[in-house]
Amino acid sequence: MSKILNRPELDWDKQGQPFSTTFQDRYFSAVSGIEESRQVFLHHNRLAERWANLNSDDGGHFTLIETGFGTGLNCLCAADLWLKTAPSNWQLHLISVEKAPLNASELQRALALWPELSTLSEQLQQQYPPLLTGQHQIDLVPDRIRLSLLFGDATEMLEQLRASDHKAWRRTGNAKADAWFLDGFAPAKNPDMWQPELFQILADLSTIGTSFATFTASGAVRRGLQQAGFEVEKVAGFAGKREMLRGVMQSEPEVSPPTDNARNRNGIAPWSLNPNPPAQQKTVLVIGAGIAGCTTANALAKRGWQVTLIERHPMPAAEASGNPQAVIYPKLSKQDSDLSRYGLHSLLYAQRFYRPFWQRDDYGQQCGVLMLPSSAKQRSDFTAIGERFADSPQLVQWVDGDKASTLAGIDLSADGALHCPSMGWIRPANICAELIDHPNIRHQCAEVDHLQNRNDEWHLLDKNGAELAQAATLVLAASHQVGKFEQTNHLPLKSIRGQISTVTTSSASESLQSVICGDGYLTPAHQGHHSLGASYNLNDHCDQLRHSDHLANFAALKKTDPMLADALNADLDSIDGRVGFRCTTPDYLPIVGSAPDPEAMRERFAPLSKNARAEIPLPGIYYPNLYLNCGHGSRGFSYAPLAAELLAAQINGEMPPVERKLRDALNPARFLIRGIKRGKR
Ligand code: SAM
Repeated sequence: MSKILNRPELDWDKQGQPFSTTFQDRYFSAVSGIEESRQVFLHHNRLAERWANLNSDDGGHFTLIETGFGTGLNCLCAADLWLKTAPSNWQLHLISVEKAPLNASELQRALALWPELSTLSEQLQQQYPPLLTGQHQIDLVPDRIRLSLLFGDATEMLEQLRASDHKAWRRTGNAKADAWFLDGFAPAKNPDMWQPELFQILADLSTIGTSFATFTASGAVRRGLQQAGFEVEKVAGFAGKREMLRGVMQSEPEVSPPTDNARNRNGIAPWSLNPNPPAQQKTVLVIGAGIAGCTTANALAKRGWQVTLIERHPMPAAEASGNPQAVIYPKLSKQDSDLSRYGLHSLLYAQRFYRPFWQRDDYGQQCGVLMLPSSAKQRSDFTAIGERFADSPQLVQWVDGDKASTLAGIDLSADGALHCPSMGWIRPANICAELIDHPNIRHQCAEVDHLQNRNDEWHLLDKNGAELAQAATLVLAASHQVGKFEQTNHLPLKSIRGQISTVTTSSASESLQSVICGDGYLTPAHQGHHSLGASYNLNDHCDQLRHSDHLANFAALKKTDPMLADALNADLDSIDGRVGFRCTTPDYLPIVGSAPDPEAMRERFAPLSKNARAEIPLPGIYYPNLYLNCGHGSRGFSYAPLAAELLAAQINGEMPPVERKLRDALNPARFLIRGIKRGKR
């Protein structure tokens, strides 16, 4: 995953329309792509009628999944129709999978053919991700239309939308599609995509009433869809094409017998699956108003949930999220691991998430980030990273020393750097305050001492046992405080003290244009000060500023770039700063998802202590409607926006915005399972 994708081989015909030379097929009809899209995919899924009839008394979401994003024409036509027909309190979730995506300029060229879609296509182009495998989230129309681009093979990527890959549980706990656009080149030219496994996944992600439409009338496709449980009808095709297929899922499809493919070998114990039904009422309590809690509250409020946000401080972002400037920069790696993949995808999402803030005053700056190597070994790693991401210069590129100095606006000692032009810094307190300024979010200043689950509701109590609030759904986003509740004190949270130094600008340092990262980081000036940070001390609970830590921050800057440290010319005796405590985990990935019941999990999965690969065909045991979002360490501002989307999608019964393998890597029960396997309580 997160590797670079194959590029499509394209020709452009006389009308300026794309043609795939690899598949010897067109992206859309030469007669009129837009009319074809409207007739084949919109009309035959009956979208105009279904959307106009959505119940506007109650908001909700409609999920439309496509195979073969291509130029995005079908998705944009669907988005356009949604805006014209659907009630404004409903959200459209478009999901489209693409194995060989066009690059940004090819996309621009193709979409220029449809001026009537220009507002939507500009949004798409502005947020179009780098061509890296995995799931990319785009807010196509804020609060109304989300687009998930799944870059990779259709079967492999759609399979990741299932809640479990265990052969007995593949249909359980899945969010369902409302409609499918089955595009992709013709089955005769692209047989690899139209396989029985794909039809099985379509069935697993469908329910009674889910519709599909496809341009093809191929017998194999018709039979595959019928076997998967769709009632299939042949109708006239577009512009003289004889036939096409459309249909509807009429009954809950049978669970098909397990196929003995490689993926099922991972299905030994589906501990990550939470089979609890979601809450009926759209009311939720969120504890903690740092970046994790504020993004979660916002993501749920946007989905129509009534949120009570409970925080012991009177203002948001009062603890670890409270530094004056926070840096958004990647931790890129030469290798592919769960950590590097979550880091990359959350960062790509964070950069799109902060974009509207960066376009306004007082929320930070998308000024770019320069990452300077601090050793010869790191320099060679950085150049390798530059090569790995050579097709994504808007994400990261290797620049030489002169270019680095020009970008920094100040002379640097470094003889090269990784440059991330679309990153920058943010003002956490302003962003948190803005995120929770929403009509669906109510604020409550209180310190929760313990949690009780009674009559299917969570009750929050203070230290005297007085009730503070109650609701069926509860999210714990209170950093270290999560470790004090009886239900969640098994989590291995670690505290890491961090001290930043706030440094008055010098005449030379004022011109710094870009964030500089190395052993520490230095931000461009804001209101006459730079932020320099941060120290990193495990299990150090001192909340007082320490002069020695200011010295250490300066020493780190000097090591990163001596000329920059000289330009700062700081008076170390009159320096100020701030102390915060990061909450992190042993694997440095955040904790996002349902809260497991530790005793019940230990009992159910006890055989794993004798044989880590024991077949236990049972799902996990989780508390009803209790969720966690914490453990973001020093990367909260990069990790939290995607974590919040993931949690909100889970709570709201939507298709997840993160692949299952990564969801499992973030699952709060992972530590329990690892502990059982190692024979530890
Ligand atoms: N729906 C597109 C539009 O609105 O422009 C046109 C789709 S074009 C006819 C077919 C697309 O399917 C191509 O972009 C192709 O790369 C993609 N595709 C082909 N095989 C695929 C596979 N196995 N997985 C994912 N995408 C695939």
